[in-house]
Amino acid sequence: MFWFIHALLGGIIGTHFHSIFFIAVAALISHFILDMLPHWGIGFDIDYFKEFYEAKITKNIFFFALFDAFITLLLLFIFYHELHSKLFILGAFFSLLPDLVSLCYFTRIKNRKNYRRYLKFHSRIQKEADFMFGMLTQIVILIILLYVLL
Ligand SMILES: [Zn+2]
Repeated sequence: MFWFIHALLGGIIGTHFHSIFFIAVAALISHFILDMLPHWGIGFDIDYFKEFYEAKITKNIFFFALFDAFITLLLLFIFYHELHSKLFILGAFFSLLPDLVSLCYFTRIKNRKNYRRYLKFHSRIQKEADFMFGMLTQIVILIILLYVLL
């Protein structure tokens, strides 16, 4: 699932509630729920990863992630500017956290047992779909999120 979709949903959670604890927990849970919906993205081979715990990062994957990160930062900047809500950013942060934690794969943490378990869980819940359907679901979600925000 695109990072910017996670971020927008987390942001919405942040602007609708007042408890920092509740926002953090709800935004975290929202991440995993979105990942369970059918979606398409350029990522590493999940089946291969599940079996060998090895992510092959190609140039395409790298630039796709860069693009996603850029759009995410841009949207966070725009909506923070519009809403002046720190809780929006807090919600967005916690909704992105599960994927940010995944980046520790590129550090020494990679080989810790619990971390390994987490990454396997995170890849197991992904519901991958073909391009047409997987993009359509994300576009529909995006439209709903923007509708709620604007
Ligand atoms: Zn995720």
